[in-house]
Amino acid sequence: MKALAVIPKQVDSAHIVEVNKPAVSDVADGRGVLVEVLRVGACGTDREINHGEYGVPPMGFDFLILGHENFGRVVEVGENVREVKPGDFVVATVRRPRGSSIYDTIGEQDFTTDDKYYERGISRLHGYMAEFYSESADFIVKIPPAIAEIAVLLEPLSIIEKGLKQASDIQERLKIWHPKTAAVLGSGNVGLLTIMALRMRGYEVHGFGLDKRDGYLNADLIEAIGATYDSTTETTVADSVKKYDEYDLIFECTGYSPIIFDAMQALNENGILILASVTGGGRTTDKVPSDLINQRFVLGNRAMVGTVNAGREHFELGVKDLALCEAMYPGWLGKMLTHKVEGLDNFAKVFEILNNSAQYKAIKTYFEVKPI
Ligand code: BGC
Repeated sequence: MKALAVIPKQVDSAHIVEVNKPAVSDVADGRGVLVEVLRVGACGTDREINHGEYGVPPMGFDFLILGHENFGRVVEVGENVREVKPGDFVVATVRRPRGSSIYDTIGEQDFTTDDKYYERGISRLHGYMAEFYSESADFIVKIPPAIAEIAVLLEPLSIIEKGLKQASDIQERLKIWHPKTAAVLGSGNVGLLTIMALRMRGYEVHGFGLDKRDGYLNADLIEAIGATYDSTTETTVADSVKKYDEYDLIFECTGYSPIIFDAMQALNENGILILASVTGGGRTTDKVPSDLINQRFVLGNRAMVGTVNAGREHFELGVKDLALCEAMYPGWLGKMLTHKVEGLDNFAKVFEILNNSAQYKAIKTYFEVKPI
């Protein structure tokens, strides 16, 4: 079968490879599920891997099959699989418990403390930009047909669901916490999904991005779901509290690390700041009002947490938010799917859009490997 691979650490190495079609029997204990891939989303992580900045091939390979934002249909299941059957729509999780940390052992590999982590399409395991994949039913999440059209958004949403779950777990320290307002820093596809997830929880949400408001499709979507949009070129997050007051929760997903110090100054007493950008560069920043920030964190019992990857429960939470959003704002999620590229062969087009997303006004670019 055909798959899209890169040579990790080599710039612009994306190419089509011919590999053996996987089989249900590749997975032990009759727990295998063979899935035909329908759609695979492309994101900044895929772009960085193709730029040679990130990514590790599986042992014994010099290439890595890309793709982690997946959506497909079950073709065949092993004799011990009861959860899904042929014809079901599914999304697979990304990280696998192959490490030696206690968290891998208890199935919480998204909290692994190992330096080497195993993520399909990213690190040490082949991904989903292929015609088929096989996987254990343990890592497969069933998708209701009513949200099949937008389910390629589930994997990026799962990252947000984990962040929000961590926040609510941490805030149990407070006995009573009734958060009302949130700021979301970043208005790309992750920012939009975060705003959606918070609106589904009833928050008053304020979104921030670099782009000016006028003519910005993402801001139209933000307002259509009942949130506000401000450009940080006009209002900094710290200044925005004059307009909106301090935030109970702030979710950072811009990829621009200096903004976290701004966010730390905009947090309410007992509030929580969630950091979700993987900033692989070497950026440093100065002129941070560190005494002020430290004092506010101490005197206001404020909290900050980093979050990466997601477990099965976060994918399942995401399924519920996708379904609720479709019910409350029909068609809103579909508007995020701005750029469909048919066939893995057209990978050059996908990277062209990823590299120039502002020019293309792209929110989510994805491969249609096979029509639904
Ligand atoms: C993926 C996560 C992954 C992270 C770090 C993100 O793009 O969505 O599943 O854990 O990259 O590799």
